[in-house]
Amino acid sequence: MVDIHPLIAFYYHSMLRDPVRRITSTFSTFNVLAKAKAMESSGADIVHFEIGEPDFNTPKNIIDAAYRAMTEGFTHYVPSQGIPELREVIAEHESKFKGIDIDPDSVVVTSGAKAMILYAIYTVIKPDEEVLYPDPGYLSYRALIELAGGKPVPYSLRESEGYRIDFKELRERITPKSRAIIINSPHNPTGVIHGYDELEKIAEVAKKWNLYVISDEIYSRIVYEGKHMSIASIPEMMDRTILVDGFSKTYAMTGWRLGYGIIPKGFVKPVVSLIQNTVSCATSFVQRAGVEALRGSQEPVEAMVKEFARRRKVILDGFKEIPGTKVFAPMGAFYLFPRVELPKPPEELSEILLNEYGVSLLPGKAFGENGKSHIRLSYATSTEAIKKGLSRIKEAFSKMLS
Ligand code: PMP
Repeated sequence: MVDIHPLIAFYYHSMLRDPVRRITSTFSTFNVLAKAKAMESSGADIVHFEIGEPDFNTPKNIIDAAYRAMTEGFTHYVPSQGIPELREVIAEHESKFKGIDIDPDSVVVTSGAKAMILYAIYTVIKPDEEVLYPDPGYLSYRALIELAGGKPVPYSLRESEGYRIDFKELRERITPKSRAIIINSPHNPTGVIHGYDELEKIAEVAKKWNLYVISDEIYSRIVYEGKHMSIASIPEMMDRTILVDGFSKTYAMTGWRLGYGIIPKGFVKPVVSLIQNTVSCATSFVQRAGVEALRGSQEPVEAMVKEFARRRKVILDGFKEIPGTKVFAPMGAFYLFPRVELPKPPEELSEILLNEYGVSLLPGKAFGENGKSHIRLSYATSTEAIKKGLSRIKEAFSKMLS
């Protein structure tokens, strides 16, 4: 690898546009993963708790569908909004799982859910307008709001309140410049699921202050306790909700880059224009694979979620034995977000765990101020790796407390 002189790096950095400069300095899970992988290739034995992706292979019927599409020559540009067949099957599927009546014309297919979140923000705000987002919350929200020229305004989910929204604080953060609120249920990193009462209250707030809701439902099928509900199913909310979901987590398809939005009709044209002028369309044969994912057997999804449930129990039981930690049982997704009470802050602990114990995880602060006393672990990894990681963390924390 070529080393860049710090002065050149500084000069280059100072030339970047403001939002780009801001996001290049944000914490990235991919950077932690890259460091852990580099250590691994030099012979270190690493337990990976950092990256949020299922360790399962993409089901074979989905791979076969992509292969068939490729060999049939389905390898060219396709409509920017997504192939009609996929939009239809997404509308059917979402209507069935989320109890909403969806028109395929309001479905937009994107290269991953993350891209849809960016397009949603770009479409909803003008420069300097505000978007509320959860703290703690998925680390890309803040970056994407900044990239779109908006102002990120965090709202709190506190552990002491079971990670429920503090509506008093939320209302205080709303200003005449507020345009949208991002919600995420099941939630990364806490695993909390917003219940119907909470969604109704969010809907009330959205209607009263005329906000759009960007509802990130990427973990909607990965549920252990309670029930996932979409805010779009609340009366009158369909027209102000941008529902984001995708294939990455449910079908173990992170590398395929396939997501979608169910969006108000008036937003279809601008979002499609954003797709046209950036990536043109989501990959053609990947879209055919998406059709198979939704139309084919859902057994692999059910088996995967069952396995995540078993691992969730292993990691929850394991943490009971780890001194200086307190856990909240996640209701969905595949993360654990333990609070740590140790002589060192979580950022330092994460470094020590990686460098000295070969355990790669993330400091909670990467997810916002309210995560500053936490660490985040993804348990979408084998039970064997989880057990190995737990015993290393126990050893490290016990030593620090002795
Ligand atoms: N939203 C949340 C809450 C996530 O955790 C992730 C991935 N870690 C995404 C969106 C991105 O999904 P995709 O791979 O489809 O871009």
